[in-house]
Amino acid sequence: MAQLEPFDPAAHVELEDARALDASDELAPFRARFAAPRGRDGQPVLYLCGHSLGRMPLAARAAVEQELSDWEALGVEGHFEAQTPWYSYHEHCREPLARLVGARPHEVVAMSSLTVNLHLLMVTFYRPNGARRKILVENAAFPSDAYAAQTQLRCHGFDPTADLLIARPRPGEHALRTEDVEALLEREGERIALVLFGGVNYYTGQLFDIPRITAAAHRQGCVVGWDLAHAAGNVPLALHDWGVDFAAWCSYKYLNSGPGAVAGCFVHERHVRDTSLPRFGGWWGADPQTRFRMPLNSEFQPVASADAWQLSNPPILSLAPVRVSLELFDAAGMDRLRAKSRRLTAYLAFLLEQAGASPSSAARPRFEVITPADPEARGCQLSILAHEEPEALLGALRDGAVVCDFRPPNVVRVAPVPLYNTYEEVWRFADIARAQRW
Ligand SMILES: *Cc1c(COP(=O)(O)O)cnc(C)c1O
Repeated sequence: MAQLEPFDPAAHVELEDARALDASDELAPFRARFAAPRGRDGQPVLYLCGHSLGRMPLAARAAVEQELSDWEALGVEGHFEAQTPWYSYHEHCREPLARLVGARPHEVVAMSSLTVNLHLLMVTFYRPNGARRKILVENAAFPSDAYAAQTQLRCHGFDPTADLLIARPRPGEHALRTEDVEALLEREGERIALVLFGGVNYYTGQLFDIPRITAAAHRQGCVVGWDLAHAAGNVPLALHDWGVDFAAWCSYKYLNSGPGAVAGCFVHERHVRDTSLPRFGGWWGADPQTRFRMPLNSEFQPVASADAWQLSNPPILSLAPVRVSLELFDAAGMDRLRAKSRRLTAYLAFLLEQAGASPSSAARPRFEVITPADPEARGCQLSILAHEEPEALLGALRDGAVVCDFRPPNVVRVAPVPLYNTYEEVWRFADIARAQRW
């Protein structure tokens, strides 16, 4: 992970200090490459919602328009004659995706959407066998992931109330302790077929120790998959070296590729080589040389890469923004992004602590950050639990033209994103938190 860099938030508490931090930020120019969402009054908003939907890279429009023009001018010939031929369009995402998640190029593919990909990967990697049939998920897993795991269990004739295990934090704690996950795996591992965790939990913002949990699960003979919806583009990843079996992520959160954008998958090399693995097949998972021959009665032959999990030809109009977004990650570099991200989030955590430490009346702080304080155990998001009047908090945020999100009953999630957010924005958010209106 990124190194510790000397940064003392306490030395930057004034608005001018925040501005000075922005002035010396080498990544600051990237902000101008993104659209600035506006409120109903036409004024720019304080956008801290990259964990939900990243801002639009300005280059996305031209990328989509190029495909519309090629479709308009070429029709079906665009498959091979478009400026970027559609037939192999997804290939252009391969190398940057591999760099982004720490994979070899043949281990990744841009395809489909996240929950669909989780199911397709579970078809291959959730293989219950005798007493080993449970799926372990983290507490407060994203609903879609929980539904995917439950329905996979049902498809195999099992009962989710018995066979979906949930790793929970200790009473009174919000984050899961790695040693508790390890202990649970030692206790239950023989009965667990699959561990399916979010790399960064969407609710608490906790970044799990992916290599340690993967290794602990492997010691028990479990298969391990990671949902990286909140991790891809947020934290550095080394999926190949960590030996992760499979992973999937969406591209519209930190990857800024637009609503419902084409998602991504990782399958470890040791599995992509095994073309005999059970899977659902479609023509886009077959060898591209023979794909169009469509011989009758011939059996599906998967390619020996993550592409084998593709079923359909990809939606080019929603793949085009993925390509331009990934170029921005290559230009900025995950290491530099992580270094800035650690500072931005540390800055936010510090200012919020100051703001929350002066309760208006009650003895306890009005709100509490439930995301781990350890920078190694979080990405850019902080989740703020409002003990008092969450509605008043929401009102104050709305009045301040802040766009973040609210998880009922009382959690606000905020994400300063290093590609386009500033220290000044973090300062402004904390300033609203400080205001007595909360
Ligand atoms: C955002 C998110 C999803 C959304 O799934 P889609 O299939 O893209 O609608 C699923 N899981 C997690 C963990 C998420 O954060």
